[in-house]
Amino acid sequence: MLKYIFISVSLFFLTNAIQSQNDNPKLVVGIVVDQMRYDYLTRFNDKYSEGGFKRMIKEGFNCKNNHFNYVPTYTGPGHASVFTGTTPKYHGVISNNWYDKTSKSTVYCASDSTVTSVGTLSRSGQMSPHRMLTTTFSDENRLFTQMKGKTIGIAIKDRGAILPAGHTANAAYWFKGKDEGHFITSSYYMESLPKWVSDFNASNSAESYFKVWDTFYDISTYTESGSDISDFEGGFDGKETPTFPYDLNALKDENRYFDILKGTPFGNSLTTDFAIAAIKGEQLGQDNYTDILTVSYSSTDYVGHNFGVSSKEIQDTYIRLDKDLERLFIYLDNTVGIGDYTVFLTSDHGAVEIPAYLKSTKIPAGYFYNDRRKVKFQKFLLDTYGTNEVIENISNNQIFLNRAKLKELGLSISEVQEQIANEQINYDNIAKVYTASIMNSTNFTNGIEALLQNGFNQKRSGDIILVNDISYIAYRKTGTTHGSGSNYDTHVPLLFFGKGIKHGETYQRTVIPDIAPTISALLGISFPNASTGQPLGYIID
Ligand code: ZN
Ligand code: ZN
Ligand code: ZN
Repeated sequence: MLKYIFISVSLFFLTNAIQSQNDNPKLVVGIVVDQMRYDYLTRFNDKYSEGGFKRMIKEGFNCKNNHFNYVPTYTGPGHASVFTGTTPKYHGVISNNWYDKTSKSTVYCASDSTVTSVGTLSRSGQMSPHRMLTTTFSDENRLFTQMKGKTIGIAIKDRGAILPAGHTANAAYWFKGKDEGHFITSSYYMESLPKWVSDFNASNSAESYFKVWDTFYDISTYTESGSDISDFEGGFDGKETPTFPYDLNALKDENRYFDILKGTPFGNSLTTDFAIAAIKGEQLGQDNYTDILTVSYSSTDYVGHNFGVSSKEIQDTYIRLDKDLERLFIYLDNTVGIGDYTVFLTSDHGAVEIPAYLKSTKIPAGYFYNDRRKVKFQKFLLDTYGTNEVIENISNNQIFLNRAKLKELGLSISEVQEQIANEQINYDNIAKVYTASIMNSTNFTNGIEALLQNGFNQKRSGDIILVNDISYIAYRKTGTTHGSGSNYDTHVPLLFFGKGIKHGETYQRTVIPDIAPTISALLGISFPNASTGQPLGYIID
């Protein structure tokens, strides 16, 4: 009898222990759609299928007022912030490229000359997350599971794969275009590609997308976007008009061969093919240790930059992405199991409606002419300091002072910052100017000042920070871009669905750094080490 009780008690503890591990999703899929404005969810809603975006909304939780809470809204910082749960102030990815004050050169957010390419003879594989200073939730999941839960990162863009996957990832894979058309990686992760990746590359999956890109549905039904031909669109080399259909096979030679796929919805389809191959090849979600798969859809960004927010091309790209999401979710249902995985979907930044188009509708907008400003600024420097050498670099709307030169001239850093700020504010289309001294000495809690401060890293950022007028960009007159703290750049979708997620929606403001601690809370693991966001408790079941 006593023996029987003892066995029952231990069985009880044993089943409980298994139970608690089974409570966690077997797989978390973190999806970033590059350059997805919030209104792409609503504007194209009628054209979406039941199994993609709409499924996430119908079954999951929709955070309708979700924003980036820092400047600049670029891809590198965006991906780092989603997965680390903090902002450039802490994770240090202050832009895609930035001027490095120590080496006195421009560095790329994911470049790493200490590692070698794997899967290509080019230098495109010399990448790692070493410039990101803090952990992602996937790093914390690796630590929590004693490295038993896997992490795989996937994207067309290297930074879209590398930063989300974090420091401890088993792998990150990105696409090498030009004349290669393969997914590659770096020696940071491994010495050679696993068989499933080599097999995927050998299958000529990328080549199969050299076909005609026409609209998915009849173009006359695309009433949610503007004319297929407009002065505001770019297009492809070798084709006179930016109009459907696009014969990619005929255009590839004039558009850097496999690179043309990046700028079409087929780049996203290829990413989905590869994500499915990864789930299979790595057996993701097949044991009791939660695995993490990060997928960044890069092509939406290329299409947006080329054709703009209101183009037929962007509408078709989202309709087709929705189909790819449906395909991915069905695959997850069938392999990991319905209700056994959790997905979130967000973006790394939005985009401004094309300023030339806004102007044509009488909305204040326009373009910046850096060259004209440069001449005026040079004159100011010579008149004030007798030399223009007090400036070391101007990039990312920041001015970096030459500290050695200031010392030599006996000038005070904070005084020069102040003088230049007072000079720059007089320029057309400069809305605000702040100094690093202000960023270091004042705690801003709201407004553009708080966004700048969240994006300001004392070690890496510049001495003077410039803010453009709203809807003014330094960009060509066709297509669009992003980077500001205005709503068109900060407001992006945030959808959760699957295991552990309630059904609902909110207009309560959420910010990008809330995502990572929310996933940590769902998994019961440590928050990323510098996370500044709040877990969204109300979405967790
Ligand atoms: Zn981006
Ligand atoms: Zn067009
Ligand atoms: Zn972009």
